[in-house]
Amino acid sequence: PVDQVLTVQMVPFDSTRKLLLSRDITQLDRIQTVHRDFIANVSHELRTPLTVVGGFIETMLDMPDVDAATRNKHLELMYDQTQRMQRLVDDLLTLSRLENGMQMKEEEVDVPQLMRLLAVEAEGLSQGRHTVAIGSIVPARLIGNHDELHSAFGNLVSNAIRYTPNGGTITLHWRIESGQPVFAVQDTGIGIAPEHVPRLTERFYRVDRGRSRATGGTGLGLAIVKHILQRHQAQMAIQSRLGQGSEFAVRFPMQRLLAEV
Ligand code: ADP
Repeated sequence: PVDQVLTVQMVPFDSTRKLLLSRDITQLDRIQTVHRDFIANVSHELRTPLTVVGGFIETMLDMPDVDAATRNKHLELMYDQTQRMQRLVDDLLTLSRLENGMQMKEEEVDVPQLMRLLAVEAEGLSQGRHTVAIGSIVPARLIGNHDELHSAFGNLVSNAIRYTPNGGTITLHWRIESGQPVFAVQDTGIGIAPEHVPRLTERFYRVDRGRSRATGGTGLGLAIVKHILQRHQAQMAIQSRLGQGSEFAVRFPMQRLLAEV
């Protein structure tokens, strides 16, 4: 109703309060911008495959008598696009679950065993195009969540494969540095220019959009990794050289280490 009046109570405040208030507003603005960008990105990412699928359906409706081979080609292309949307929605759901701060079940994670599983999965992904190796490995377990770590390490491994040309090598490491357990994935891939490194864990940030898409990326992998690592109080260091390769190393706090007796 128009006759409703909003009354604001004026309270005197000192300059520090004013400063705090303006800082909060700036912070709020930033959050709102990030939120708006996110919605715009999601919409865009979903719209592209939808447009492609819609286009093919239209073509097929216009040409009902097309030969079987062409029809199958169209169906395959549409299937690829639906798979892409599926991956995006799955990643969005994972992110949202992590952001809701659901409590994490802590258990003993046998990292050497997980690494062997990751190596088998990496070979499946690579389909013989890369060498997958286990470098250093210490018989140490970790206190954390098995499924979350599987997903975080798996993302790093699949990135290593996707950003390494055929014939390259992916090496997994599980080592102790200054008493802290470190899991690392090293590749001999395309590398990352230094100016991109600080932004890689932002949602939808990609160095090369085309390459990310062509290899099935959603642009959300490292954002998911970041959340999972935060929940484990772990830190990720990225070392990379353009054209030579990268290493993504995850360092856990000492207290999470369970040394084998
Ligand atoms: P995407 O689905 O695009 O791979 P990610 O969040 O997993 O999204 O990664 C963000 C970007 O970081 C990628 O688009 C790619 O540009 C870069 N990146 C990630 N891992 C590597 C790697 N091992 N080598 C080179 N670039 C990488």
